Amino acid sequence: MAGRDEFDVIIVGGGHVGLTLALALSQSARGIRVALLDRRPLSVPRDARASAIAAGVRRVFEALGVWGVMEKASQPITAMRITDSGTGDISRPMFLAFDGDVAPGEPFAHMVPNSVSAQALLDAVSGKIEVIAPASFTGFVAEGRSGRLTLDDGRVLSAPLVVAADGGQSALRGMAGIGVTGHDYRQTGLVTTIAHELPHDGVAYEHFRPAGPFASLPLPGNRSSLVWTERSEDAPRFLAMDNDTLAAEIEAVMGSTLGAVTLEEKLQGFPLKLQIARDFVAPRLALVGDAAHVVHPIAGQGLNLGLKDVAALAEVVVEAIRLGLDHGSDDVLERYQAWRRLDTASMAAMTDTLNALFSNDVAPVRAIRDFGLGLVDRAGPVKAALIRTASGIGGNGPKLLSGLPI
Ligand SMILES: Cc1cc2nc3c(=O)[nH]c(=O)nc-3n(C[C@H](O)[C@H](O)[C@H](O)COP(=O)(O)OP(=O)(O)OC[C@H]3O[C@@H](n4cnc5c(N)ncnc54)[C@H](O)[C@@H]3O)c2cc1C
Repeated sequence: MAGRDEFDVIIVGGGHVGLTLALALSQSARGIRVALLDRRPLSVPRDARASAIAAGVRRVFEALGVWGVMEKASQPITAMRITDSGTGDISRPMFLAFDGDVAPGEPFAHMVPNSVSAQALLDAVSGKIEVIAPASFTGFVAEGRSGRLTLDDGRVLSAPLVVAADGGQSALRGMAGIGVTGHDYRQTGLVTTIAHELPHDGVAYEHFRPAGPFASLPLPGNRSSLVWTERSEDAPRFLAMDNDTLAAEIEAVMGSTLGAVTLEEKLQGFPLKLQIARDFVAPRLALVGDAAHVVHPIAGQGLNLGLKDVAALAEVVVEAIRLGLDHGSDDVLERYQAWRRLDTASMAAMTDTLNALFSNDVAPVRAIRDFGLGLVDRAGPVKAALIRTASGIGGNGPKLLSGLPI
């Protein structure tokens, strides 16, 4: 009989990834005791961002029964237009255009406001898991068949499996002695929501500029979410601008595409880096989401990668529990790691290469990349393959990514 502070799984971090894992486990394994610990109160964060949720990951939310609420506030992305421009260019030639669905009637991604998805997940886990928040932990050790977390009030929580979903700065990853590899992009992602005069018609625009990509992603109504990359040394200048000056800067990049724009909220800045954990598992510990990998937002894949981790980890854990096996054993964790490492490495390499290739104004590099984009644009099967990769569908993936229960 489990004591008050003994659980089957302890998840540290109640962001989107931790919450989705808590939901997947509590729905799929009957009677499982899941604890979710966060240093802040578990409530909807004041996050003005919206995330592009790829079709595969949308199926995870469908299988978990939370997509209906999210869909009502979301905007399908029906097409993508990519341009490449140099410093001072006035016209922005179109190099690549993606139209259509990943499957008939299924857009390759939806834009979902982060506050809406967080609320849907919080409502869904309510009453199904034990929430320990706000709370801080001061130590983690793996001892025999359990991982033990010591809280700063002296309480000790234990479970056969502890999961680090505590974001890019993961303290739990550090306590387990897992190092990271990667580099600082010396770029800042500037994020805001704009209202605009003309309809976007479900089109996402990505303008590659020497300082980095500038993406305008459609939201319901005549509104879009901007992820605008600048060199970090230039970011403070933009963050200090008033909204009218920023609107003029945005219109200069977007040209006449969306007409006059107004900012709906203050610009926020996020320093960008590539960071991959050297291991995704350690004795009695698994890393998921940004704790395991932080990638450039150029392709809007960070959260999607984290939710794919959830689908894989939930499946191996639930299968082990059903078979009466130790669900935090090295064998089970190795299966999770093997499932996720290759996909993560390829997405990290893809986003890193795209950013290196496009965030510069070197004439020969521009000529080659524009020639390459032009070729892709004329090759239907290559475009279809790219859309399927971005959608996260296909391959030997976990069941949740196909919309199936575990
Ligand atoms: C500008 C920008 C745009 C992006 N756009 C997209 C997009 O369109 N699509 C997409 O897929 N991804 C996108 N991403 C990436 C995405 O935002 C992240 O990958 C995602 O939010 C990571 O979620 P997470 O739950 O792993 O971590 P987090 O959201 O960082 O959550 C971590 C949680 O852990 C808690 N925590 C931290 N430390 C501790 C501790 N010591 N003790 C207890 N709790 C702790 C925190 O309070 C928090 O609740 C973007 C990122 C940026 C910067």
